[in-house]
Amino acid sequence: MKTIGLIGGMSWESTARYYALINRETARLCGGLHSAPMLIHSLDFAPIAAMQAAGAWEKAETILVESAKNLAAAGAGIVILATNTMHIAAGAIEAAVPGRFIHIADPVADALLADGAQTVGLLGTRFTMEMDFLKDRLRARGLTPLVPEIGHTDLDAIIFEQLCRGIVTEPSRATYVSAIERLGANGAQAVILGCTELNMLIDETNSPLPVYDTTELHARAAVTAALA
Ligand code: GLU
Repeated sequence: MKTIGLIGGMSWESTARYYALINRETARLCGGLHSAPMLIHSLDFAPIAAMQAAGAWEKAETILVESAKNLAAAGAGIVILATNTMHIAAGAIEAAVPGRFIHIADPVADALLADGAQTVGLLGTRFTMEMDFLKDRLRARGLTPLVPEIGHTDLDAIIFEQLCRGIVTEPSRATYVSAIERLGANGAQAVILGCTELNMLIDETNSPLPVYDTTELHARAAVTAALA
């Protein structure tokens, strides 16, 4: 099995979940006491979040490209980035570690297409919902992503002020459930949890639409690729 290199810390709450999911999937596929050989580079999220807020994307990209190169040099045969938002830097990372990077949108698109979904809601940070870096990757696969028409600020604030700090509240869950209801009313057949912390609030049991969790699908894809 190849070593999985994970660029994490954005936030550490979701990186902890990636770690558990990757090891559980490895145990499921390999049996016994098998766990995944992994290298985790967990960044301090505060400066990265400040760069996002300031639109200093190139500065953040430089840090992530350096991280990916270091993971590859240390032996990672697979490299994943445990945040949807920073996939704004995916092109530069893919170029820095050719053949090793798994884009977070790819396993999600695979799962949606396998299930016959076409028009899909996309929830995430304001950057993920408003900018095109993730939506274009989905469109390139023939999917039609829909984002909420209103309520961006609420949805984004819940991610940065609560979920990334480990805070889960019922009013926030209700805010997300109603955003998913609106997406469904606008034609979405399913919803992508396009932020790696959203699984803390939303899952199949409370979502009005079928859920595609980027964290879970990305973690499983990393294990499949590492075992291939
Ligand atoms: N983890 C989140 C995501 O998947 C948000 C944190 C960030 O802005 O990087 O987008």
